[in-house]
Amino acid sequence: MSSNMQIPKTCQYCGKAFIAKTTVTKCCSSVCAGKAYKANKRREKVQSTIEQDLKSDKVQQPTNSINPNSLALKDYLSVNEASKLIGVSRWTIQRMIKKGQLNAVPFGNKHIVKRSQIESLFI
Ligand SMILES: [Zn+2]
Repeated sequence: MSSNMQIPKTCQYCGKAFIAKTTVTKCCSSVCAGKAYKANKRREKVQSTIEQDLKSDKVQQPTNSINPNSLALKDYLSVNEASKLIGVSRWTIQRMIKKGQLNAVPFGNKHIVKRSQIESLFI
């Protein structure tokens, strides 16, 4: 192995022509190498953030707290969720169920309201 290699190269960072001593050298100086490394890292970070955004668009995050946006995707809502969806108290929903304005199906100790029921109230 020769340690006196002289490979004409172009700096990856500043674009200056230089003579490299190893085949893996990509930059004219350690300053450029450091800057190129940082730029690369930044690009990777941006890229992975974009990929994460794309993923989280497809995969719904499981969450215990009630997010009004995720309620719009659910077809069946608890009384609590239904009240959050239209922004009234759960007592209002329960009153509507008692009056027969909303058709709720009991599941155990919960009442489940079909989202289309709520939507049809506004038609
Ligand atoms: Zn350079």
